[in-house]
Amino acid sequence: MNYISTRGAGIGERHTFSDILLGGLAKDGGLYLPNEYPKVSADELARWRALPYADLAFEILRKFSDDIPDEDLRELTRRTYTAQVYCNVRDEENAAQITPLKTLGVENGAPLSLLELSNGPTLAFKDMAMQLLGNLFEYTLAKHGETLNILGATSGDTGSAAEYAMRGKKGIRVFMLSPHKKMSAFQTAQMYSLQDPNIFNIAIEGVFDDCQDIVKAVSNDHAFKAQQKIGTVNSINWARVVAQVVYYFKGYFAATKSNDERVSFTVPSGNFGNVCAGHIARMMGLPVEKLVVATNENDVLDEFFRTGIYRVRKSSETYHTSSPSMDISKASNFERFVFDLLGRDPRRVLQLFRDVEEKGGFDLQASGDFARVQEFGFVSGRSSHDDRVDTIRDVFQQYDTMIDTHTADGLKVAREHLQAGVPMIVLETAQPIKFGETIREALEREPERPAAFSGIEDLPQRFEVLANDAERVKEFVAERTR
Ligand SMILES: *Cc1c(COP(=O)(O)O)cnc(C)c1O
Repeated sequence: MNYISTRGAGIGERHTFSDILLGGLAKDGGLYLPNEYPKVSADELARWRALPYADLAFEILRKFSDDIPDEDLRELTRRTYTAQVYCNVRDEENAAQITPLKTLGVENGAPLSLLELSNGPTLAFKDMAMQLLGNLFEYTLAKHGETLNILGATSGDTGSAAEYAMRGKKGIRVFMLSPHKKMSAFQTAQMYSLQDPNIFNIAIEGVFDDCQDIVKAVSNDHAFKAQQKIGTVNSINWARVVAQVVYYFKGYFAATKSNDERVSFTVPSGNFGNVCAGHIARMMGLPVEKLVVATNENDVLDEFFRTGIYRVRKSSETYHTSSPSMDISKASNFERFVFDLLGRDPRRVLQLFRDVEEKGGFDLQASGDFARVQEFGFVSGRSSHDDRVDTIRDVFQQYDTMIDTHTADGLKVAREHLQAGVPMIVLETAQPIKFGETIREALEREPERPAAFSGIEDLPQRFEVLANDAERVKEFVAERTR
């Protein structure tokens, strides 16, 4: 398998899975994709139905990573996808399934269910990919005798998923910036209570955007970046996307009895990483009817799938909502889908994303390409704070099930796209405890708290407060990597 950039760089060059694992963007600013999607045969699909999660992950990942020996990859997936790691389940009995399917009921003739993706250590779906990434990074670095210092900024979900994935890993340190005293008590405790010596929580005296600006400033100092071996784990990382392909297969098998059936998925979306994995599963041959993209008030993606216009938002037009992990101004993985939509023409992708940088967007309405969105199964919808609150209340009353705000956005939009006889699987991307305020508003009660998290707010915390100053952060990193 060879990897190419969506903007055309490296055509004719060899890039293996391991080559692109630790990097970010391709050198021309594009995103990496395989030169073609591996296809799944009917025989394979039949055989995979019975596999436990870790072995299904092995079968799927090996199609994308032929430079990792099978026995190593099998060991990595078996170590990653265990009932001990994904233990925060609704129902004890289901822990071995890693991503249990929770059936709600039948609405408009469509069986409706939740695919639980948030049973990992940080209670959000990002653990599904990040835990694998931690093991893959450690494995690849050890092989080449290298080390890596991960620098990131977080307002919550991604940073804690990265820390829990990298804690205790050999050859890896994590420097995670977060806004001092701006996160919820639960989120702060989740991150700052980690005592591992390779995890550094840096509380910046500023807001989240300041943290992000510092990461950009440090990354733009190329000499420092190279010398300190600075890397990132952001959502464009290819291994993260491909790890997410696995649960679309797992969800399909759980919701159907035979491989003749088709299902639809609804995906609460922000940076388009999760639903991009669904698109890839479909391209591989998984019988997917519809991929429903659900957004919140930040409806960049819904606008595109309704109109063909992609218009990124300014920060003044980006809303802080009660489903904050979907509060995006542009969707960083979207370029991967656009590449496929345009028949994999890198010159046109380059032109369109230049237009994004120069004019703030592009319009495919008039071109024939937009009509092809349907061939790829995509539809969309948006949800608001009131919709979230209503949906959380309704699902609790009707199905005795508590869902988080992001999953509520998904369910609200899923209900607008039900087709009789086609199972609809809504991806559950986080647990309610992470967004307690809205749960209390909707249900007038406390969110459910998995046993492992009782009293984490009282644990001792390990963090360093630094001024809003990139030079100070560089000093801090350099002192700890000597
Ligand atoms: C990250 C995140 C999303 C959005 O996923 P994308 O891959 O960015 O589209 C949705 N819900 C939750 C809870 C998240 O943490």
